[in-house]
Amino acid sequence: TLCTVGHAALDHCFSIADFPPAPTKTPARHYQAISGGMAANASIAAVRLGATVRLHGAIGDDDAGDFLVRCLSASGVDCRQLQRVAGAASSVSAVVIDARGERQIFNHRGDALARAAALDTGVLAGCDVLMADPRWMPGALAALRWARQAGVPSLLDGDLSPTEDLQALAALADWAVFSESGLAAFAPQATLADGLGAALASGAQLAAVTLGARGVRWQRPGGPVRSLPAFPVQAVDTNGAGDVFHAALAMAMARSLPDEDAMRFACAAAALKCQRPGGVAHGPDCAEVEQLLAA
Ligand code: ADP
Repeated sequence: TLCTVGHAALDHCFSIADFPPAPTKTPARHYQAISGGMAANASIAAVRLGATVRLHGAIGDDDAGDFLVRCLSASGVDCRQLQRVAGAASSVSAVVIDARGERQIFNHRGDALARAAALDTGVLAGCDVLMADPRWMPGALAALRWARQAGVPSLLDGDLSPTEDLQALAALADWAVFSESGLAAFAPQATLADGLGAALASGAQLAAVTLGARGVRWQRPGGPVRSLPAFPVQAVDTNGAGDVFHAALAMAMARSLPDEDAMRFACAAAALKCQRPGGVAHGPDCAEVEQLLAA
């Protein structure tokens, strides 16, 4: 069982031909409401890869929250630990995508996570691997502390967030896996290698940074910086690639795969997602990943 801790949001996605040069009314070619947020996205991606997933976080008792529970449950994610906070607003985004795939996002974070009750770590019993994002700090800190004590492998999805938050989380996570902007926030002014070194110095057993089409780099304490290129695929939509990567990596950790095999598995899963339009709901299943790895 993968336990995820963090953010769930409702994304209103509008596809348009071109961004207007100045604010105006622009007709959309296509509209879809989907669930978003790092922990929620990784949860859906992991279910598609065959994992049993429980999501821990908080949403409001509003319509957006109803939508999220419906959507995530229909995707196979266990939402029983997703708190419905009375009177709180769920996170909602307007995501506008042009014909070239460029994205503009307007986000209202809502106050559900800020007003959530403390995470009762008792509900993590049975967890084989934990993944946390930085959007629900008290929940992530409690869960990562629990995992360290319980000897359960843990993964931080280190996306762009306040430096102090990322530093506190990296000190508790076994694997601290950053996006490029997340690593820059974690270690401002540092090179990639120095950033990875800083994550290891703070206590992580493995530090990594995902680099989009340039693949991934990672390091263990005292070891060299290792890297893998991205799988050479025709990318049509990289939306959700990072979430699929984290989901796949968490599953590889649960299986105790060697570092390079784990990274290759995650890169293959993320590359398959990039080949298809749409979000994590269009992520690959495990057989597709194995097939790409065997090719
Ligand atoms: P995020 O979405 O969090 O910014 P990245 O863009 O770094 O994450 O992508 C995560 C992983 O997805 C990369 O490490 C890589 O393995 C894979 N990936 C991303 N873009 C591509 C691409 N164009 N082609 C193949 N793989 C990709």
